[in-house]
Amino acid sequence: MERTALDRRSFLALTGVSAGAVALGVAAPERAMAATTAPDGVFGLGVASGAPTPDGVVLWTRLAPEPLAPDGHGGMRLRPTAVRWEVAEDELFRRPVRRGTAVASPELAHSVHPQVRGLRPGREYFYRFRVGAQLSPVGRTRTAPEPGAVPARMSIATASCQAWYEGHYSAYRHMAAQDLDLVVFLGDYIYEYGLGAGVVVRQGAPALGSEHAAEIETLAQYRLRYGLFKSDPHLQAAHAAAPWLVTWDDHEVQNNYADEYSGYGIPPELFVYRRAAAYRAHYENLPLPVAALPVGPDGTVHSATDWGRLARVELLDVRQHRDAPPNTPEEQADPARTMLGAAQEQWLHGALRTSRAAWDVIGSGVVVTPVGERFVDQWDGYPAARQRLLKAMAGAANPVVVSGDIHRHYAAEVPSDPVDPTSAPAAVELVTSSIASGRDGAQHDGPEDEWMEAPNARLWDGRRGYVRLDLTPEQLVSEFVVVPYIQADDRAQGVVAARFVTEAGRPTLEREV
Ligand code: FE
Ligand code: CA
Repeated sequence: MERTALDRRSFLALTGVSAGAVALGVAAPERAMAATTAPDGVFGLGVASGAPTPDGVVLWTRLAPEPLAPDGHGGMRLRPTAVRWEVAEDELFRRPVRRGTAVASPELAHSVHPQVRGLRPGREYFYRFRVGAQLSPVGRTRTAPEPGAVPARMSIATASCQAWYEGHYSAYRHMAAQDLDLVVFLGDYIYEYGLGAGVVVRQGAPALGSEHAAEIETLAQYRLRYGLFKSDPHLQAAHAAAPWLVTWDDHEVQNNYADEYSGYGIPPELFVYRRAAAYRAHYENLPLPVAALPVGPDGTVHSATDWGRLARVELLDVRQHRDAPPNTPEEQADPARTMLGAAQEQWLHGALRTSRAAWDVIGSGVVVTPVGERFVDQWDGYPAARQRLLKAMAGAANPVVVSGDIHRHYAAEVPSDPVDPTSAPAAVELVTSSIASGRDGAQHDGPEDEWMEAPNARLWDGRRGYVRLDLTPEQLVSEFVVVPYIQADDRAQGVVAARFVTEAGRPTLEREV
């Protein structure tokens, strides 16, 4: 893919930040002058952690006393601010184990991403930040078990699609009360659409100014959109409850984009600027490691996370490197067509081949199971690439696909031969519904018949919610949590609408509830 219009150096020059300053998250010459105080309410976007390893974790906060300040800077003055962080074994910080100072700079929207090391494997930790006399809420996190260990169990929640304006994050309130090892976010953390009159159906939401009315495209607008979505207390609670792994799908940039190709006719040489702004704001707002810091329009969000030998989580980027939608059936069937790009595909095949885990949890923003050729935005639009994915998954002991995007819960056994839905299953796929996209929803809705027609389909539920996975060496229990409504208020209670058991060595979904 040629990118002559925008090389890395010219992008960095345009944004006025040196590569070194961006990598460190500090503006080096100004460090000595970093402010040590900030306006009240500086932790208005909460705290988060992510990317757990056996000896550490990434912590995150973004200083924003006014998350809806129209310039996207959250009410902060445009100068560096010192942020102290500490990690302890207990919630009251009587047994502190690590501390440090990070500098929140305006170049990164006053976000900090300290990489904590030197922690013990397989342990629970607590963390908090301090600016001046202001203390942040306390977050809870976990380190991964030591390599080679076989933990008795592990709990993961998967989530996607959180259109703030379509309802309350009641599903996150339920999730935040669970005892989870990991949250895996599968895309559509924000939506880029203009939020003009009639779009916001979340009752009780603050009135939004005209700065929210148009589709977003600048860095300031993307930052403001994250500020809006992240102002929700239940999303903040879910971040504070467990470490997250995060990938993106399309709406973090623009609906249905593919690599440099906007689905709305924006020329690639202009669209890459928008992608650069969008990726930058994404990094600023999530607990991602420094390796994920985008360079111009290029970002790295795919990752592999080991939970001892119980699970390896392979999280994919299905947007940045994919080929554009096909114009003809011949093009769709082209064996050279790619969803992941050559480098990520090779990385994934290696991760699956070398995995010694009982379970490989493969996170894909879009659905893998064959539904129909017209679903060209999903893996159905990339049949040759899916064939290669299935072949690589066959090398793993127990592949489990977790995905999202369709705003419904859906469960299926992925057929080993995608053109024959009665062929032996190659994996199970657990598709999480949206947190908020699609408004209240209903258990049974429009597209259900088409999706449930195939004999390998096991569940459809059009209500909002998330999926919980409980893994042991012997089995996977998957629960599909739903909330009955989200528009009126945030009080709806989560309930388990369906539960399946998958025994190790047998990729089927046996329904219990
Ligand atoms: Fe979505
Ligand atoms: Ca999507």
